[in-house]
Amino acid sequence: MPRPLTATVTLSAIAHNLKVLQARAGQATCMPVVKADAYGHGLERVLKGLDNAACLAVLELPGAARLRQAGWQKPIVLLEGCFHPEDMHIAGQLQLDWVVHNQHQLTWLESEAGKLPHKPRIYLKINTGMNRLGISLPDASEAIGRVRQLVERLDWPQPVLMTHFANADCPPDQTLNPSVQAQFDALLRLKPADWASSLGNSAAVLNHPALCGDIARPGIATYGASPGPLTAADYGLLPAMALESEILSVQTLAAGQTAGYGSRWVAKRPSRIAVVACGYADGYPRHAPDGTPTWVCGQRAPIAGRVSMDMLTIDVTDIPDADIGSPVQLWGGNVSVDEVASLSGTIGYELLCAVAPRVPFRVA
Ligand SMILES: *Cc1c(COP(=O)(O)O)cnc(C)c1O
Repeated sequence: MPRPLTATVTLSAIAHNLKVLQARAGQATCMPVVKADAYGHGLERVLKGLDNAACLAVLELPGAARLRQAGWQKPIVLLEGCFHPEDMHIAGQLQLDWVVHNQHQLTWLESEAGKLPHKPRIYLKINTGMNRLGISLPDASEAIGRVRQLVERLDWPQPVLMTHFANADCPPDQTLNPSVQAQFDALLRLKPADWASSLGNSAAVLNHPALCGDIARPGIATYGASPGPLTAADYGLLPAMALESEILSVQTLAAGQTAGYGSRWVAKRPSRIAVVACGYADGYPRHAPDGTPTWVCGQRAPIAGRVSMDMLTIDVTDIPDADIGSPVQLWGGNVSVDEVASLSGTIGYELLCAVAPRVPFRVA
């Protein structure tokens, strides 16, 4: 028998989340983001749940190639565009669309455009305050003009003007901060009438749907975790991944005895400590403090003691039915990955992306 630790991906949850996002996005088309191996869920694994998506966004060429290999025939967008001029030819063979976010990429595009085997849709990315990728607002008009010329000359599809918000996770009743709003307004003023726009991530779709533009780019929410500020359940999302294991051993401790490395957890009363087959080498956060919830026999059981490489310990004193072989959920439908992440000082994104290769996956 294999070690009793499994990550289960639920396709119906992904399809449900996409429906929720699409309803929220209204007129905008949702383009689910499947970068980082579909946020740790596995590109090929999630694809069936994304049947209804009109297009997908990835980061790198190998990811796009895997999607084509798996039979995805609809559009694919490379979110950071091409890293080298020759990438455009591979992207051409794979029939990809891509982002152009700086002057180098624009120059490469102009020099290679006539030699490409297909007609890509160009997503011209403008920097509206994130200050990461994107052409600056003062340079935007000129870049738009260059892309427009090229697209008209070669009869390529209508381009997309794109940006990425730094603060879309602010609450729905607050508007973006004034300087971001001003840049955003300036961007929309620049947009040629016949171009589409792509502006919003999960946080924008969930909190500021009016600001998504024509093509929304939800990532994390597709997988049922929350970008904030509300919980995934508040947004009506269902977790796509459950990380589950079993109890390997139970120790009975007298008051004053301790559990785990460094004796961080000290029994305040006679206690039962259950040892679970999941550790930081599986992707469970080592920073999880005492009290971080797990789910055993229909109840929450708190982490008690430092997470080890292959095991973690939980206090089951109040769960007499918990015994060797009892199933334990580390995150999923009963304990949200966002709650575990937040207690460990990170976000659900990081935990989902960091499930270790040694953890076997199953699709439900
Ligand atoms: C990752 C990414 C997204 C998705 O962000 P979420 O917060 O996961 O919804 C959208 N757009 C771009 C450009 C990205 O890189």
